[in-house]
Amino acid sequence: MNKPIYVTQPSLAPLEEVNEYLRQIWESGIMTHNGPLMQRLEKEVSEYEGVPDTICLANGTCAMQLAIRALDLEGEIITTPFTFIATANVIAWERCTPVFVDIDPDTWNIDPDKIEDAISDKTVAVLPVHVFSAPCDVARIQQIAGEHGLKVIYDAAHAMCVKLNGKSIMSYGDVSCTSFHATKLFNTCEGGACFTENKELASRIRKMRFFGFDEMKEIVDDGINAKMTEIAAGLGLANLRYLDEVRKKRRDKYEFYRSLLDSCGFISFQKYDPEEYNYSYMPILFDSEERLLCKLEQLANAKIYPRRYFYPSLNNIELFSHPKLPVANAVAKRIACLPLYNKLSDSSIRTICSVLLENG
Ligand SMILES: *Cc1c(COP(=O)(O)O)cnc(C)c1O
Repeated sequence: MNKPIYVTQPSLAPLEEVNEYLRQIWESGIMTHNGPLMQRLEKEVSEYEGVPDTICLANGTCAMQLAIRALDLEGEIITTPFTFIATANVIAWERCTPVFVDIDPDTWNIDPDKIEDAISDKTVAVLPVHVFSAPCDVARIQQIAGEHGLKVIYDAAHAMCVKLNGKSIMSYGDVSCTSFHATKLFNTCEGGACFTENKELASRIRKMRFFGFDEMKEIVDDGINAKMTEIAAGLGLANLRYLDEVRKKRRDKYEFYRSLLDSCGFISFQKYDPEEYNYSYMPILFDSEERLLCKLEQLANAKIYPRRYFYPSLNNIELFSHPKLPVANAVAKRIACLPLYNKLSDSSIRTICSVLLENG
C-alpha cells in the first residue's frame, strides 16, 4: 500500500547539526531568557532578511498581539477575511474589532480600494496578510494609512525570504509579524518574530515579551511571557543554513506542478511575481466548489490529502461580523493547497496531477 501524502512536512536540518546546538545548551545550562542562541538567531535572521532588527518570539500569533499592544491600538482594525483564523483572533483577543474587507480576485490579498470604504472614525489600523507569500499592494496601503493616520501591521506569516523592490517584505508597515511554526518555510518548531525599523517600538516589544522587564530587570511596562526558548533558537540556527535550498526545492516542485497543470481548463493560480514569492504553498483555484469537493474525494481515495486553505472565509464565522464579501466568499470556497514539501517526490507530484486531471 502507498503511504499517505499529507499537505506538508516540516523542513528540518540534519539531526547532528541540531544536536550540536543542544549540546551547547546542555553545557551552558541556559534554556531561555534572552539566551545566546536566541540572540544569535535574531542577528542571523536580520542579516538573512536584510533588516536592521528581528525580535524573536514564542509564536507568530503572539507577535501580532504584541504589535497591537505596543502600538496602543484600541478600536477597529481593518483586515482580510481570507486568512488563517489567528489574524482575526488576535484583533478580537486584544479587545479591538476586526473589520473585514474584500480581497483582490487575482492576488487573493486585501483589496486596497475596499480599505478606504471601510474606514470609520473608530479605525486605528490595517492588518493585511501577504497571502501564500504574494506581497500586498504595500505602496497603496501605506498611502491610505498615511492619509488617515492609521498604523499598519503586516501578517507576514507566509512570507519569509520574500523581497519587494529589493527590500525584505518584513521592512514594510509599522511592524511585520511572521511565524516560524513547523509548517512554515522556515521553522523553529513553534516560534515567530516581529520586525520594525522603529527602535522605540522594537525596544517596547522586547520588554513586553519578557513580563515588562527592562535590561536592568526593572518592571517598566505591560508585559507577558512571549519568549523564544534556546531549543527553538538552536533548531532555527540549524534550519536557517538550509533556507535557500528549501526555497529553491519548493520552487522547482511548484514549477513542476505548474508544468503539469497549466493547460487544465478548470484550475487557475494565484497571481504573483516569480521573484517575489517563496513557493511555500501550492494553492490551486477550481472553477467550482463542486469540482473541488469531487477532486478532494478522488485524491483521498488515493490517500492524498490536500487542504482547504483558508475556508471558510472568516466573514462567515459566528464570532465575527458578517459583511457581504463576494470575492472572498467565491474564492475561499474553491481553493485547495496541494502537497508541497522538500521531500515530496516528482513521481508523487505526477500521481497527484493525474488524479486531478482524470475524468475532468
Ligand atoms: C501560521 C499563521 C499564523 C500563526 O502563526 P503561529 O506561529 O502558528 O502562531 C498567523 N497568520 C497566518 C496567515 C498563518 O499562516
